[in-house]
Amino acid sequence: MSKARGRDELIKLLFTEAGARAHLVRLDQSWRHVLQHHADLPPALVGLLGQMSAASCMLSASLKFSGSVLLQIHGDGPVRLAVAECNADLGVRATIKLTENWAQDLDPNLLLQPEPSLRPLLNQHGQGRFSLVLDARQPDQRPYQGIVSLDDQSIGSAIESYMAQSEQLASRLWLAADDQTACGLLLQQMPAEGGHSPVKQASRLEAWERLVLLADTLGPSELLQTNPQDLAHRLFWQESPRLLQSQLVQFSCPCSRARVGRMLASLGQTEIESILAAEGRVEVLCDFCNRPYQFDAVDCGQLFSEAQQAAGFERATQPGSSMKH
Ligand SMILES: [Zn+2]
Repeated sequence: MSKARGRDELIKLLFTEAGARAHLVRLDQSWRHVLQHHADLPPALVGLLGQMSAASCMLSASLKFSGSVLLQIHGDGPVRLAVAECNADLGVRATIKLTENWAQDLDPNLLLQPEPSLRPLLNQHGQGRFSLVLDARQPDQRPYQGIVSLDDQSIGSAIESYMAQSEQLASRLWLAADDQTACGLLLQQMPAEGGHSPVKQASRLEAWERLVLLADTLGPSELLQTNPQDLAHRLFWQESPRLLQSQLVQFSCPCSRARVGRMLASLGQTEIESILAAEGRVEVLCDFCNRPYQFDAVDCGQLFSEAQQAAGFERATQPGSSMKH
């Protein structure tokens, strides 16, 4: 079956009667860009990372402030780390890291399932950790981090449970991803305005339940094969949605030499010097976009002298802290 070719976009809909909103997102090019750097992932892992990517876009678009959303899983299973991040301009990036023997730790049939099951992939011994970080990117505001339970069956239901707890408003998510496209639909109740009569409340609830029933008819293949505007029309035309906004989504990696430098400085001078001694230079590839960053001995010396300056020369006065290169 041929797939809908469209642009990478996110649309926002408003349902007045239900007092609810919907976000629909479709990642084509941006998702394939992510996968270029993660060749040969089996369908379950493509599904996992794609669903996280689509979810990060819809969550970022629903923030009340301008900021980014980072979904990060430190796995206790074959997946060591899975990260999807979407910024306020809907620039998305994602990466996944696996254990060395990941393929041996899993039933091969499970890897072929496009709907990833969280426990065997991420939480085999109950030590996995899924966090959701909201970053307003304001100097005076620290990022907010919430912990999402990995007890649920899927990424979508894990995020739904988290949102029900943190926002006290019902949210439902439908997510799907294959090696070409990552898509999602988010339905979210909005806070009721004061003074709603019981009759109005009941009709709001009824309209919300209709929306959920309609969205529940959506299978993963229909989600993947239909662009957001057509899908919105097909599912919800009887509910008279208002199209509020359509925004482009694109791959974006904000990595920089300065950030990589800070990461290297945090590894410590001994570690860096031992790499320099063995390799002659330190080369770092960005996990998200594969961009290479090289630091020779002079560059590394500079990193540590900058770090020492920042620390008020404290370390420079201690024995053994002088640069060897
Ligand atoms: Zn990068």
